[in-house]
Amino acid sequence: MKLYNTLTRKKEEFKPIDEKEVKMYSCGPTVYNYFHIGNARPFIIFDILRRYFEYTGYKVNFVQNFTDIDDKMIKKANEEGITVKELAQKYIDEYFVDAKGLGIREATVHPKATENIDAIIELIKKLEDKGLAYSVEGDVYFNTQKFKEYGKLSQQSIEDLKMGSRIEVDNRKKDAMDFVLWKNHKPGEPFWESPWGKGRPGWHIECSAMVNKYLGETIDIHSGGKDLVFPHHENEIAQSEGANGKPFAKYWIHNGFINVDNEKMSKSAGNFFTVRDISQKYDYEVIRFFMLSAHYRSPINFSAELMEQSKNGLDRIYTCIDNLEHLKGHAIESEITNGEKEFENRLIDLKKKFIEAMDDDLNTADAIAAIFDIVREVNLNVNSSSSEGIIDMSISLIKELGNVLGIGVREREKNVDSDVQELIEKRQQARKDKNWKLADEIRYKLKDMGVTIEDTPQGTKVVHK
Ligand SMILES: [Zn+2]
Repeated sequence: MKLYNTLTRKKEEFKPIDEKEVKMYSCGPTVYNYFHIGNARPFIIFDILRRYFEYTGYKVNFVQNFTDIDDKMIKKANEEGITVKELAQKYIDEYFVDAKGLGIREATVHPKATENIDAIIELIKKLEDKGLAYSVEGDVYFNTQKFKEYGKLSQQSIEDLKMGSRIEVDNRKKDAMDFVLWKNHKPGEPFWESPWGKGRPGWHIECSAMVNKYLGETIDIHSGGKDLVFPHHENEIAQSEGANGKPFAKYWIHNGFINVDNEKMSKSAGNFFTVRDISQKYDYEVIRFFMLSAHYRSPINFSAELMEQSKNGLDRIYTCIDNLEHLKGHAIESEITNGEKEFENRLIDLKKKFIEAMDDDLNTADAIAAIFDIVREVNLNVNSSSSEGIIDMSISLIKELGNVLGIGVREREKNVDSDVQELIEKRQQARKDKNWKLADEIRYKLKDMGVTIEDTPQGTKVVHK
């Protein structure tokens, strides 16, 4: 498999350090609110990367943190009149509700910053001992001038980075690029005891400390949104490589931004949506499908039109599986017949096409296209005279590939309410009685109710509701 590595700006063959196990870390949410669709993209993408590794036979040790202490957390907790800890627990619980809906599996570990203060302090001490950190009045800073490779991930000179980022002038820092590792305690804020006095950790240090603790000094993949490249990931590299003297992550994987109606999503523009908001209108699975419809490094545009397309695309997959299961119930028990061999080979080729797409830097858009090709082939070739063997193969192939992407494998409610069921039965009786007029009337009535039916040799079924 090839993955685009931000560190080298190249697609590289993926080879984990340990042959059997992939060690992967992804920066998780700051838990002060429901997460928005921009956050959802990396959660979904890296869940798929993990699933694909597992599909190809690796074990995956996947760590995703919760940032549960920072300025935003403190501000929001004060606004809501609850403690930072209560706020964090509330939105961690809500994270799991949305994540589950979106089909994002739980990480191997979800460590919290506040539960890893010892590891954080230990790492800062190590940096201090190595002359890479200094303290000023209870604050501790990383000394970027002492880390020669600073800027290697963003591939910009320190001067460019300084120009491009808004850095507050702080005369206590040795260099404008130096960043905080430990913050001195302010009244009314949560604090922990440390060698530098009461205080709390800065943001960047928690990820370095947790990677170290849960995965080791060098990991295979570090991932996150593109907006994290600088300064967050640059700073993580400085901290971890500065402390350990070893490469931090072999591959750095970053996803592109999400726009809303072709504009940058922002609170001030009023086009800022949480996943929870959108799940009121669309199934969570439609949101997931939408996120996969573009390559993860490209920008993706969120619009009502694309969500409708995603909904229809997903429905096509489910309808195909429904039809296959319906046919299976009436198929003659038989292996794949000679006449079906050619079709079987086409299915095998399409599975290869899916794998090639995934191997090419996780091209989920092409992988979905391969699933649609399978659906099209099935719709053309499988019918009431197909063997049980080919029907089984079609169902399991769609489900197998769908499971890698986390789509098309849910138990969907058929949603046929009793009124509809009653009308269908009444119509079946009318057909038996050869009362075609009544049968047609009922068909139109059902159509008015938004129910389309289809008469098959095995009976009447609801095609789409
Ligand atoms: Zn991080």
